[in-house]
Amino acid sequence: MRLISTRNGASASSISEAIRVGLAGDGGLFIPDTFPEGQLSGLSVQTSLKETALALFEPFFKGDQLESVLPELVEETYDFDVPLVNPHPGRPGVFALELFHGPTGAFKDVGARFLLRCLDKLGDPSAPFTVLAATSGDTGGAVGCAAEGRKGVRAVILYAKGRISAFQERQLTCWNAPVTALEVDGDFDACQRMVKAAFAERALSERHNLTSANSINIARLLPQAAYMAWAARQAYEKNGVKPGLIIPTGNLGHGVAAIWARHMGAPWGPIVLATNANRTLADWSISGRYEPRASIATLANAMDVGAPSNFERLNALPDDAARLSVELVEDRAIRARIKADFERSGYVWCPHSATAAEALSRMREFDLHARPWVIAATAHPYKFADVVEPLIGQTLEPSEALAEVLGRPTQSESCGADLDALRHHLNALNETA
Ligand SMILES: *Cc1c(COP(=O)(O)O)cnc(C)c1O
Repeated sequence: MRLISTRNGASASSISEAIRVGLAGDGGLFIPDTFPEGQLSGLSVQTSLKETALALFEPFFKGDQLESVLPELVEETYDFDVPLVNPHPGRPGVFALELFHGPTGAFKDVGARFLLRCLDKLGDPSAPFTVLAATSGDTGGAVGCAAEGRKGVRAVILYAKGRISAFQERQLTCWNAPVTALEVDGDFDACQRMVKAAFAERALSERHNLTSANSINIARLLPQAAYMAWAARQAYEKNGVKPGLIIPTGNLGHGVAAIWARHMGAPWGPIVLATNANRTLADWSISGRYEPRASIATLANAMDVGAPSNFERLNALPDDAARLSVELVEDRAIRARIKADFERSGYVWCPHSATAAEALSRMREFDLHARPWVIAATAHPYKFADVVEPLIGQTLEPSEALAEVLGRPTQSESCGADLDALRHHLNALNETA
């Protein structure tokens, strides 16, 4: 298998190279030239998540310098549970795939752990990769956590001073070396501009081996495809009917991962993308025209995306592989769904997962009963306690992993809102190293 660009102008010499550079040379995203169909069809309900991941990764990594360390990377990436639970005891055909039992309480842990471990193996400890991330959502914490203690890669995380919640700030600032959290005297857009400017300055970028950890990197997508493949098999074996899947969607990293898994043989039936009020995908599914928009702020803020960065990968698939539907869920419906499902069964969704639960509740009876349905539960509700607690009228307890985060000391450095200030911080890292 070769990895080629969605824009057809470039290819990667290996998956390691695709992981290192993230984006293809022509600005497109990496996709396999042919998908390894049938790779997953031989797996059974007894196949573990880790075994599923190894089977799925094998053709992608064949002959690559990372091939021999894959078992170790897989072992460390999936070292927490991904349970398929039944959130509503009265409805045995509905499942939640709880993807939030990792150290930072969101599915981003899985991709970040795998990507950072790949970079760690590929990097040179005397001149490590530097992952530069501007973050408002779940990615920064997951990347910081995944970088802790690594030698071949370090992480520099920028966040906007005074503009993120107390818990978010903790989660960005509690990781030990080689992780640096920069509290930027500006807003999120300023953080993003600084990161872009740093990448654009060739000397700076080369000096620090700058790399990004965003969701277009194939090393984030594949480990997500693996649990999507595993979950399909688990749900399918319950009664032999292909389950449907509903995924809360922003940048389409997760959605494309599931669609790739189905294309490679995972027994998924219909796939539904649930979005918040950002309408780009909903409009596209009706009109067939893709028109990116500016993003708007919603309660499901990790999905506040107006130009989904993985759209090109979806578009590159043959029509029958890419079949899906889109359900748009406004804030009002997110609130009502969290409240209603809690009152019905005591199960608590985060605002993102609630978009998928709402999409399920809007389904026609016939479709609902035709097959089992799996809702991807993407974050632990405690991370969004400020939204959820008033709706359910109770205080939420952190998971064990999140309690561990809360107990850690924090540390950050203040940074001006321009490239000179960022350059200064980056250069200081090299001096102390
Ligand atoms: C990132 C994120 C999403 C959206 O995932 P994409 O891969 O960007 O579509 C949904 N829910 C949570 C909690 C997230 O952190």
